[in-house]
Amino acid sequence: TEACLSAIEGAGALNAFVHKTPELAREQAQAADARIKTGDAPAMCGIPMGIKDLFCTRGVASQAASRILEGFKPEYESTVTTQLFDAGAVMLGKLNMDEFAMGSSNETSCYGNTVNPWRRGNDDTALTPGGSSGGSAAAVAADLCLAATGTDTGGSIRQPAAFTGITGIKPTYGRCSRWGIVAFASSLDQAGPMTKDVRDSAILLNAMCGHDPKDSTSADLPVPDFEAMLTGDIKGKTIGIPREYRMEGMPEEIEALWTRGREMLADAGAKIVDISLPHTKYALPAYYVIAPAEASSNLARYDGVRYGHRATLSQGEGINDMYEKTRAEGFGHEVQRRVMVGTYVLSAGFYDAYYNRARKVRTLIKKDFEDVFAQGVDAILTPATPSAAFGLGEMKEADPVQMYLNDVFTVTVNLAGLPGVSVPAGMDKQGLPLGLQLIGRPWEEGDLLNTAYALE
Ligand code: GLN
Repeated sequence: TEACLSAIEGAGALNAFVHKTPELAREQAQAADARIKTGDAPAMCGIPMGIKDLFCTRGVASQAASRILEGFKPEYESTVTTQLFDAGAVMLGKLNMDEFAMGSSNETSCYGNTVNPWRRGNDDTALTPGGSSGGSAAAVAADLCLAATGTDTGGSIRQPAAFTGITGIKPTYGRCSRWGIVAFASSLDQAGPMTKDVRDSAILLNAMCGHDPKDSTSADLPVPDFEAMLTGDIKGKTIGIPREYRMEGMPEEIEALWTRGREMLADAGAKIVDISLPHTKYALPAYYVIAPAEASSNLARYDGVRYGHRATLSQGEGINDMYEKTRAEGFGHEVQRRVMVGTYVLSAGFYDAYYNRARKVRTLIKKDFEDVFAQGVDAILTPATPSAAFGLGEMKEADPVQMYLNDVFTVTVNLAGLPGVSVPAGMDKQGLPLGLQLIGRPWEEGDLLNTAYALE
């Protein structure tokens, strides 16, 4: 814990930790030491971690990287962090992210972006760590903590993991409780581990997940020991390669990475088959209707009354002015864009044309996966991202679709509720890390992590 706390002090330029909690960390570390001495300490006991700012942590600023939550210190602890603290984990502080988890580059954060610890060759250009869990990814990659929590609505664990050379898993929807995690798109949001390797992800996932009566979508299912399932034996497993993920204009390096991943799994004894997920091309448009729709509804609660920031009113202004001014001041551009898109697609005149159609597409995407799993496919291998980390400021705000295209390989997994993991699997020509994604059957995170282990 002390080593991490001083590493964090020395790494201010990365802007990964946005609220530091050294006193709490020392207290927790001492309690963990005492527990370890009794010989009865779980695997997470004494492990110094960073927590994404989206998690509510009791008495500690939890702002979802938004101005609108300025000054908000929850009275309650999220279920995931409660479980982690019960297991003896130590919290070093809260980690930077895109505002309300909306973004793929960390540039929508009210604290300013996190910087990726990696550089392109000798080029000094500051790169994005990805988003929205970019602070978590950078902190783990730069050794500021041993592990971090992330959340993933459309790729926010897997894309930053790929951009920083770490491992991140989005569990099956319902595996981790969403209670106490600031909601973005409730039918897509999942918490998950971001760690240095697959084994750490297995250990951390065990500590984070499990049934929670406070979240009606949390699954009441047994949780296996994920670490014990890491045998490295994948002989006889069938790995599907979906032809629709071979996008036009895909960089050669990504193509080569994918081929190498396939060969590694084949060498380990897996059977590789070509598969088709025919509705893949509709995933991104469906996601960018469903996610903003749910967000616009979830974000209605930030009204200047219940949480955080409230605008100052002039003489004669009333409650409507207060709502309008508070939301105009408190929400950044991307969040405002999502609220507007979401409100539009849910409006009476356009509901059927957009929101309902997107929901139907979502069902078809889910069915694509069910069909290939029914044919005996155990896991699906794809690239995690269409490129390596890009430069900060490189994606133009004027063209948000350019940014949205980053999520092309990851959003299908959220729409279908499946587990997906990103593992570091190579480098591009400039020495930047690249990730491969494995998608698994629902509730089979253990098998999925074991397949990922074979890629390590
Ligand atoms: N980049 C995607 C978005 O902006 C995904 C974000 C996430 O998974 N939280 O919506």
